[in-house]
Amino acid sequence: MTRINKLFVLIITGAALISCSPLKHTAGIDTRKAKNVIFLIGDGMGSAQVYAAITASNKPLNIERMQSTGFQKTYSANAYITDSGAAGTALATGTKTNNGAIGVDPKGNVLKSILEIAEENGLSTGLVASASVTHATPASFIAHQGSRGSYEDIASDFLKTDIDLFIGGGLNHFTKRTDGKDLTETLRANGYAVETTLDGVLKSNASKLAGLIYDDQPPYRLKGRGDMLPATTAKAIEILSKNKKGFFLMVEGSQIDWAGHANAADTLIDETLDFDMAIGVALDFAAKNKRTLVVVTGDHETGGVTITGGDINLRKTVLSFSTRGHSGITLPVYASGPGAYKFTGIYDNTRIPMKILEAFRFPAY
Ligand code: MG
Ligand code: ZN
Repeated sequence: MTRINKLFVLIITGAALISCSPLKHTAGIDTRKAKNVIFLIGDGMGSAQVYAAITASNKPLNIERMQSTGFQKTYSANAYITDSGAAGTALATGTKTNNGAIGVDPKGNVLKSILEIAEENGLSTGLVASASVTHATPASFIAHQGSRGSYEDIASDFLKTDIDLFIGGGLNHFTKRTDGKDLTETLRANGYAVETTLDGVLKSNASKLAGLIYDDQPPYRLKGRGDMLPATTAKAIEILSKNKKGFFLMVEGSQIDWAGHANAADTLIDETLDFDMAIGVALDFAAKNKRTLVVVTGDHETGGVTITGGDINLRKTVLSFSTRGHSGITLPVYASGPGAYKFTGIYDNTRIPMKILEAFRFPAY
């Protein structure tokens, strides 16, 4: 082929690609400063969990709307297989720590979280989880404790911050304490509305809200949790988005992990579908508020799940579990909006909060 002909073929191919492109999300690189960040963590969610949920759904999942993808390495400071404390701390603070630690480094030094940095920069901040708010993942963004099991100390740490809202279970860690204190009284004195029912949370107009809607852990969605996670995610965004400076919100789909530990395939898929509804709430808000970065990932994979059979037309998968614990595989990271392009590639979990801070462009980051 002559050089002219080659050029001609290239031009025609390029034109055909542009005119016939079925891609709807080729918006290009969005280098604007992010005003809001919604960080959604599926505890125990690896790519098998995501694809099993995609297969089971009769329509495309919200997670399939995400623009950029990358991979994170999850190992902790003292273990190749991380727990949710060390992984949550890495995702919240950008430092790897020992398994079981919450917001402190291996020597016990306090690590500042991106939620705390967002607070310092005048943003509104929030945590929503389908576990207790004192559980490892949300705790990593607000508390500083050597042990994830120190639930009452973790609850006390919420009172040392200016967090605007937190919604999940764990009321007992605030009210039925060994020190006899009722922290909900202190929360009210500090200007929080304290709501102990889902209905109360969804009807609240408070600007500071403690939504402690289960005494301990919420049940699986299949066991009656309903749409608590997506509904409270929407409420959190409604409240936090009133701040003109912007907001940081972390949402955890907590129980994908628990279904993985139980090797319960149907529950695992259902919890992943529930988490995907929260992702949809975040993406719908971001579609209307274009300076919102949405980041979705897991903290580690749970169950060592592989897909060993299935039928895409019947929406069926056969899941095989290789462990009742966590596995060490890399996890997909999905991002959309300003700064999303930074999330491509393969990197340590500790890079994720740094990329979020870069997207916010706070002074000094
Ligand atoms: Mg968790
Ligand atoms: Zn776990």
